[in-house]
Amino acid sequence: MKPLLSGLGIDGINALAVAAGEPPFRARQLTEWVYKKLVLIPEKMHNLPTQFKNYIRDNTDCGSSVISERSKSGSGTEKLLLTMRDGNAVEMVIIPSPKRVTFCLSTQIGCPVRCRFCASGADGLVRNLLSGEIIEQLWHGSQIIGRLPDNIVFMGIGEGLLNFDHLAAALDIISSPDMIGLSPRRIVVSTSGYVPGIRKLAELGKPFTLAVSLHAVNDTVRAQIIPSQLRYSISEILEACNEYRKKIGRMITFEYTLLAGINDDDSAARQLAEIAHSQHAKINLIPYNDTGSEFKRPTPDKIRRFQQILESCHANVTLRVEKGSDANAACGQLRRSKTQS
Ligand code: SF4
Repeated sequence: MKPLLSGLGIDGINALAVAAGEPPFRARQLTEWVYKKLVLIPEKMHNLPTQFKNYIRDNTDCGSSVISERSKSGSGTEKLLLTMRDGNAVEMVIIPSPKRVTFCLSTQIGCPVRCRFCASGADGLVRNLLSGEIIEQLWHGSQIIGRLPDNIVFMGIGEGLLNFDHLAAALDIISSPDMIGLSPRRIVVSTSGYVPGIRKLAELGKPFTLAVSLHAVNDTVRAQIIPSQLRYSISEILEACNEYRKKIGRMITFEYTLLAGINDDDSAARQLAEIAHSQHAKINLIPYNDTGSEFKRPTPDKIRRFQQILESCHANVTLRVEKGSDANAACGQLRRSKTQS
C-alpha cells in the first residue's frame, strides 16, 4: 500500500521531493499545504508544478479514510465514524464548549487492554492505526469546524501507548512548530496505566498532559475492571507517574470511572484523595456510561457524595460533564454498533 501523505512528516516529505527530482523549496511548499493549510488534495496545491502533483498522487495515498457516519448529540458533540482503506472503522469525536473545541482521537482499531466496562475493548485489538490515519482524524474534524481544534485528547479507541511509534510520530506532526504546531500542553495522552509506555512518553521530553485511568484504589478492585494481560499494579503505575511528573513538570490527571458497588464507596473516595495528593494530581470522575457490560452506573446521589468526599479531602476533582451519551458517544459505542449490525 502507498504511504499516507498525512503521515509523512517533514522527513518523509523531503524524501518524496528528492525522489520526484524537485528542489528543496518544493518540499517546504508541500509541508505548508499538508500541515499548515491542511490540504491533502494535490489538485488544490496551486503553487506546485503539475508533474510534482502527479508524482504525489501516484506515490502517496492523499486521503485514506472517509466519513461513513456522523452522529450528533443535543449538546453539540459530534461523533464521526471513519472507514479506513482496509474497510475497518474508527471513531473521532468533536466536543464543542463555549470557549473551545476539543477533538478526541483514536489510536487503534479495537483495543488489546479489554477493560471490562468498555465497548472499544470488547472484541480485542484489530490493528494499530498508522500515524497518518491518526492525522486524518484531525483533518476530517478540522474540515468540519473550519479550523484546528483548541485541544486534542487521545482518549478515543485504543491504548495509544501500545501503538507508541505511530502515536509518537503523530504527536510530533501535531506539536512541532514547523508542522501543525499545536502546543503540547493542549494535547492529552491517555493511558490505561501501561507503565513502559508512560516511561517512553516521558523520554519524548515534551510537556504533553498525561491522563492515567486508575479506576480503583487497590489492585484487587482494579483486577475486577482490567484483565491481567496488560494490567500493572497501582504502585508500579504511581512510580511511573512520579517519574513523568518530575521529568516533564506537568500535573497528571487520574481518570476514575465510577462503577456502582465496585469502586464508589466512601473509603475509596478518601484513598483516592490520598493517592492524588501524593502525586499532586487532578482527579477526573467519569460516571459509567452504559455500554451493555456487567457494570452499573452509580445513582446521582452516590456520584455527588463521592465527589463531595474528595472535595472535603481538598482533592482537585472534576466531574466529567457528559456530552453525547445520546450520540453513541461512549468510547467505541458507535464503531461497535456498526461492526455488530
Ligand atoms: S477503556 Fe481505553 S484502554 Fe480500556 S479497553 Fe477501552 S479503549 Fe482500551
